[in-house]
Amino acid sequence: MRRNDGHRWPGGRGMAHADAILPLACLRERATTDLVLSGLEASGVACALFSPDDELSYGSAAFRALFDVQPGARTFADIMRRCHAKSVGPKMSGTIDAFLDMASAKRRSTPQRTFEIDIRDDRWFLVNETLLAGGWLWSVFTDITMLKSNEHMLQLARDAAQLAADTDPLTGLFNRRAAMARLDAEMRIAFRDCTQLSLALIDLDHFKTINDRFGHARGDEVLRHFAAAGRRQLRGGDTFARVGGEEFLMLMPGAGLREATRAVERLRRHVAQEKNRIGLGCAYTMSAGVAEYCGNAAEDLFERADRALYRAKHLGRDRIEQAD
Ligand code: GH3
Ligand code: MG
Ligand code: MG
Repeated sequence: MRRNDGHRWPGGRGMAHADAILPLACLRERATTDLVLSGLEASGVACALFSPDDELSYGSAAFRALFDVQPGARTFADIMRRCHAKSVGPKMSGTIDAFLDMASAKRRSTPQRTFEIDIRDDRWFLVNETLLAGGWLWSVFTDITMLKSNEHMLQLARDAAQLAADTDPLTGLFNRRAAMARLDAEMRIAFRDCTQLSLALIDLDHFKTINDRFGHARGDEVLRHFAAAGRRQLRGGDTFARVGGEEFLMLMPGAGLREATRAVERLRRHVAQEKNRIGLGCAYTMSAGVAEYCGNAAEDLFERADRALYRAKHLGRDRIEQAD
C-alpha cells in the first residue's frame, strides 16, 4: 500500500520513525490499518477521505480512476474542476462554479448523505457520504448501473402497460377510462382556476347502416379515419377519446361553449367534405352535443352534452347542438 506524500492523515503520526521504537500495540494498529487499506484497494471499491478543508487525504485506485484524479490534484474543487474541463467523471449541469457552490452547501450538511451520480460513460453510482469527527468526510461510491438499467426497463414496461391500458387499440385514441381520468383532472383545474372547460359528445350517424352496407372492416376504417381527422383538429391540451363503439369525446380546457362548438363544427364540416374522404370509399357524418362545465359533477356535464346530442340526432343528424 502506497500513500501519496503530502496527503494528510487524521491524527497524522510521523511516518519516518523507526518501527523499532514503536510499542507493539502501535505496530499492530498500523498493520491493521495497512491491511484495511490494501483490502479496500483489492476489492476495487471507489472510496475517498477528504480533510475538513476538503483536501483529498486518501482516494482508492477505483476512486481515482472514476474521477480521473491526477497526481497534482489537492482538493475536491481541483478534482471537480478538472472533471468539468476534460469532460470526464460525473455529469455536471451548468457552470463548474455553480456546481461547486451547490456541492459545498451540501457536503458536511448532515452526518450521512446518500445520492446518485451519473458518469459521462453512462455508469451510475450511489454515493454514501459520512461525516466523521472534526469534519473529515468519508465517501463510498457503489456502481448501480445494473440497477439503474433494470429500473429503466421496468419504467419503460410500466409506461407501455399504462399506455396500453389508456389506449383504444383500433384508433390509437384515449379510451373511455383514460378520458374519464382526464375529465376529472380538467374539472378540478377549471374549478380551482375558475377557467372555462367544454365537453363534446360525438356520435357517428347511421353507423350500423355503414357496417351493413360496406362491411365491418370498412366500418373500422371509418372509425380510424374519423379518429385521425379529430386528432388533427385538436389544440394542445385538448383530449380526443373513443368512449364507445362509434362514440367519441372531445374535452377542451380553456374553451367556452361558443369556441368549443366552433371547433367541433370544423370537424363536422371536415368529414362531411368528399375531398377529405378520398380513398375511404364511403361517406359518413357525425352529430354532437356540446356542454360547458359550470361547477357541477361530471355526470351533470355528461348528461347535458348527451341531451344536446340526442337533440342533434332528433333534428336530423349531421349537426351540432349546444346544451342549455
Ligand atoms: P345513430 O345515427 O342513431 O347513432 O345510428 P347508429 O347506427 O350509428 O347507431 P347504433 O347505436 O344503432 O349503431 C351503432 C353501430 O356501431 C352498431 C355497432 O355494430 C357499430 N360498432 C360499434 N363498435 C364498432 C367497431 O368497433 N367497429 C365497427 N365496424 N362497428 C362498430
Ligand atoms: Mg352510438
Ligand atoms: Mg351512431
